[in-house]
Amino acid sequence: MAQKILQPGEIGQHEPFPAVVLPTDPQQFANRARRFEHLARSHAMAPLLAAMAHIAHAQHAALGAQAPAAIADEPLARSREHGMPALSYQDERDPAWLTDLDHILASLLACPEPVLQDAARRLQAIAADGREAIADAVFGGGIAGNDPEAHAILSPLVGAALQVWWTRQAGSMKLDDIGMVGSSTVCPCCGSRPVASVIEIGPQQQSLRYLHCSLCSTQWHMVRVTCSACESTKQVAYYSLNGADAEQPSQKIAFARAESCDDCHSYLKIFQREKEPMMDVTADDLATLMLDMLVDEAGYLRSGPNLLFSPGVPDEPDNG
Ligand SMILES: [Zn+2]
Ligand SMILES: [Zn+2]
Repeated sequence: MAQKILQPGEIGQHEPFPAVVLPTDPQQFANRARRFEHLARSHAMAPLLAAMAHIAHAQHAALGAQAPAAIADEPLARSREHGMPALSYQDERDPAWLTDLDHILASLLACPEPVLQDAARRLQAIAADGREAIADAVFGGGIAGNDPEAHAILSPLVGAALQVWWTRQAGSMKLDDIGMVGSSTVCPCCGSRPVASVIEIGPQQQSLRYLHCSLCSTQWHMVRVTCSACESTKQVAYYSLNGADAEQPSQKIAFARAESCDDCHSYLKIFQREKEPMMDVTADDLATLMLDMLVDEAGYLRSGPNLLFSPGVPDEPDNG
C-alpha cells in the first residue's frame, strides 16, 4: 500500500488528527496478554514472554476492580492552562495503587508459573513503605534495598501495578483537560518518558507517529524523523536487526527499528503497526530486546523505560 510520509513542516496539510489518544480501552491489558502469548509461541525468550502474559492478565483483572479516583481541580486547571501533566508521577502517590498491587499479587499467586508465585509471595511480605521504596526506584532508576537480584524480580510487578493505577486515571481524563502546547518529549498526562513510538494505521492516524507513555498508556503525536528525547531532526538514524535502515518510502522498512540521535546519543524504538496490526508496544518492545543490545553496543543510551523489565544496574567501575 502506498503511504504518504509526513515530514516536519508538512503536517498542516494533513486531515485533522488527534494530538493525544487517551487509554480508554478496557481491554488494553487483555490485548497485551494475548500479544505476549502469541509472541511466546516461537521466540528465544518464550519463558519470559509467557510469564509477562500472566502479569498482563493480572493487570487486566486489577484495572476493572477499582473505579478511577477523582482528579482535583487544581492539577486539571494547571494542565489546561499551562500544559502541566495533571497526573504527574513526581507528585505524591495516591496509596490506591497499592490496592492494584494487591490485586495483581492475588492473581499471580493463582497462576501456574512458580517464579511469579514466589515473587508475589515475597512482595506480599513487604509492608507499604517497602513497596513505595520499590516504586521510587522504578521511577528514579537504581534499586530499592541492597539486593539487585531481588529488585530485578520484584520491580516489574510494582511497575505493572503503577501502570494499572495511572492508566485508569489517564483513561478517566477528558481531552479538553490536556493543554498540550506543541509537541512534547514527555507524556502530557503524567510526565513520564515513552516506552517506544508507533507509526499508526487507520483513517485518522494513517502514517502518523505516536509516542506511547511507559506509565499511563497515553499516546501523543510527534512528527517523524525527530528525536523523541531532544526533538533534534539533524542527526536521526535508524537501526534494525537487518542493518541500518533509512527513512525512505522506497526502502523496505523493518517492523521494529531503533531511532537513534547523535545530538543526545539516545535511542528509542519505533514500530510500524501496518506490519503487525495486533502489536502491543510494551510486549513488542520486550520481544525485541536483541535490537536494544545492538544499539547499546553502538553506543546509544535508551531514553525511555519499559516498566515490566528491570534492565539491571551497571556495575560500578571499581567492581572490575
Ligand atoms: Zn503518561
Ligand atoms: Zn536527541
